[in-house]
Amino acid sequence: MCAPKLLHHSELGLIRFCEECRHYQIAFGTIVFTLDVKDFYHFSTSINKISTIETECKIKDIWINLPAEDVGLLLNTLELIKLKELVGLSLHTQKLNTILQEVGLSSPK
Ligand SMILES: [Zn+2]
Repeated sequence: MCAPKLLHHSELGLIRFCEECRHYQIAFGTIVFTLDVKDFYHFSTSINKISTIETECKIKDIWINLPAEDVGLLLNTLELIKLKELVGLSLHTQKLNTILQEVGLSSPK
């Protein structure tokens, strides 16, 4: 049974990871989607390639493709910055959890 663990939570969303099926669950704005490890790293790399020069522009003009056919995210610059933060901090948390487990400081529950 899926028991995804929270990696990071922000005002715009959250990311959880299920150790059993090795899937990430991403909730951002009003959308929730699931990615496997390979797709999540690809997603992370591709959003980080998009420039986020901060502007006052509130128009949603950044399209991010998702692996599901004909489904994507449409964001403005500020939302993309927040998404990058959420993904980045989630990956850091996951790395930290792995290190803690390896040295026996945390039990994988
Ligand atoms: Zn699962």
